[in-house]
Amino acid sequence: MYNIYMIRYGEIGLKGKNRPAFERRLMDNIYRALKKLRSPSRVLRVYGRILVESEAEPSRVLEILSKVFGIVGVSPALRLPLEEEAICAGALATMKDAAARMLLPAGVALTFKVESRRSNKQFPRTSPELNGLIGGYLLEHFPGLQVDVHSPKIKVQVEIREKNAFVYADDIPGVGGLPVGASGKALLLLSGGIDSPVAGWMAMKRGIEIEAVHFYSFPFTGEKSLEKVRDLCRILTNYTARIKIHIVHFTDIQKEIQKNCPEELRVTLMRRMMFRLAARIADEQGALALVTGESVGQVASQTLESMRVINQVVDIPVLRPVVGMDKLEIVSRAQVIGTYETSILPYEDCCTLFLPKHPATRPRLEQALEAEQALDIVSLLAGALERTVVEEVQQPLL
Ligand code: ATP
Ligand code: MG
Repeated sequence: MYNIYMIRYGEIGLKGKNRPAFERRLMDNIYRALKKLRSPSRVLRVYGRILVESEAEPSRVLEILSKVFGIVGVSPALRLPLEEEAICAGALATMKDAAARMLLPAGVALTFKVESRRSNKQFPRTSPELNGLIGGYLLEHFPGLQVDVHSPKIKVQVEIREKNAFVYADDIPGVGGLPVGASGKALLLLSGGIDSPVAGWMAMKRGIEIEAVHFYSFPFTGEKSLEKVRDLCRILTNYTARIKIHIVHFTDIQKEIQKNCPEELRVTLMRRMMFRLAARIADEQGALALVTGESVGQVASQTLESMRVINQVVDIPVLRPVVGMDKLEIVSRAQVIGTYETSILPYEDCCTLFLPKHPATRPRLEQALEAEQALDIVSLLAGALERTVVEEVQQPLL
């Protein structure tokens, strides 16, 4: 019955002069996300609000809007002519719909309140007059209703604008954050594990567009582990239209490290190579930061000492959005995002295969620098970059 969706986007409102750019970005992102429904939709900005029209099934539209970063809330609404009768009838229909979805125990009164706003001062009734008029109409036509202006179970909202009136009662929470792309681009180091997809999602939530890089040890890790990474990206495209993946052939580097360097430093040295390669790709792609799924204290390579030694090879900022989360928190976030089930599939990651029995938990920079003397870093990097393959994962159509 609703014919429009009203979008609220709180945080953007705080951005002062940047506001129009943010709004445009959000509208683009909404439009692109709705494209997967394969039915016509329009995204409009009127009266300082974003409105969405779509012919698709409302539950599907809401499902999509619930994953667009930047949206704080969505209200399915009736857009009506500026006529009292139509507004009263619309308020009644909205009330009936909201009440039908509210399961009240017997004996509990259904309380409500009408809240009107009038930006169109030509309209002959003031907001308090409208509240009284519509409230009276509802009481008359909907048996059992009671007014409660302090904590009503249903709040019928009425907005009187230039050309139309809008009536709605629901406020469905969105994911919040900032529209993807509004904060520039970063390169996500995406393994097949649980943490890095969550890290990518959290970066996107802050408006960062993501490209992914995956280090791949063919033939030690096979097509299935690659397919897993593609699947993870596909799940992340629920939140952004597309993700580019750089697949880096990492085997030669790992073999060289295995052959020439102390076993306990392998993880540190592999990570240093990953960071060097990622920083190069980021520069080429105009990405301004790296994003990893590192958390503090989880494994040997995630002590602060290790991070210090690994980070030393790059000067690009490295964002670690899950740094303060416990494993359980990361897991539950992964479940909400939808990446968890894919992340726990048992295909080997490139690093597990070359993992030493006793990795150094407190590597020192001098040790790493000395061990790297045995490597021809320049040509190893060049070789890996040359064999890098780029793919793009698009949001699937529904
Ligand atoms: P994850 O759950 O993301 O795999 P993890 O807890 O297994 O993380 P590590 O294996 O130490 O931790 O990896 C730390 C981070 O390094 C990962 O979160 C990811 O950002 C990056 N990383 C590790 N392996 C790869 C890989 N093969 N390709 C791309 N990035 C990787
Ligand atoms: Mg891992």
